[in-house]
Amino acid sequence: MKLGDRIIDPTKIICLGRNYLDHAKEMKAEVPKNPVFFVKTLNTLVTNGNPIVYPKLLYSTQEYNRVDHEVELAFIVSQICKNIQPEEAYQYIEGYTIFLDITARKMQISDRNTKLPWYRSKNFDTFGPIGPKIAPCSEINDPHNLNLQLKLNGEIRQQSNTKYMIFKVPEILTFLSRFITLVPGDIVATGTPSGVSPIQPGDIIEASIDQIGTITHKVILGE
Ligand code: MG
Repeated sequence: MKLGDRIIDPTKIICLGRNYLDHAKEMKAEVPKNPVFFVKTLNTLVTNGNPIVYPKLLYSTQEYNRVDHEVELAFIVSQICKNIQPEEAYQYIEGYTIFLDITARKMQISDRNTKLPWYRSKNFDTFGPIGPKIAPCSEINDPHNLNLQLKLNGEIRQQSNTKYMIFKVPEILTFLSRFITLVPGDIVATGTPSGVSPIQPGDIIEASIDQIGTITHKVILGE
C-alpha cells in the first residue's frame, strides 16, 4: 500500500479503544487501567480520496443503521517489535499518519450488550481509511501535542489534541509488544476523542492532523 511516497506492507491494524477520557464518557464506558486494544482486518484499508462504502446490510435495517466516524492518530511500526521497554519504543516507529476507525455503532453496541465480540462492527470493507502520507518521526516534534480534527460536510465534529490521550505512544507499543509481535508496516491507531457521530451516504469526511495533512473520503452506499 502506498502512503505518500512510502510503501508499507502491514500484516495487521491494532486499534486502541477508550484512549481519550471524553470519548470513554460519551460511550458510557469505564476508563481502562491498561490499554484496551482490538484488531482490524486489512480489507478495511482504503487510501486518501477513495470512498467509504456504507454496506446496504447496515443501511437497510433499523437495527444496525448507524455508522460512525472516529479520527485517530496512527503510527507505523518500523522493525520487529516484541517485549520492548518504553524508553526504546520510538526506535520501533517509522512515522505517523491519520486513521479513521469507521464503526458500525448500533451493531457494536448490540453485540457488546449480548456479550458477543464486536469484531464484525469494525471490519467491513473500507472501514479503515488511512493517509495521506507517513510523516517520519524526524518531522513530528511531539506526537503528544498534535491537533486533530474531523469535518463532516464542512462542519467540525471532532476537535482535540493528542495530549489528551490516556496511554501515550511508548506505553501503548510496550504494552502491545508483550502480547503480539509487531512487524514493519503494522499500523497502530491510538484511539479517538469525543464527537463521534453518524455518517450517511453522500457525506464528505475530511480528517486532519497537524504536521501530517488531511484525508478526504466520500461515503457511498454499497450493495
Ligand atoms: Mg477507535
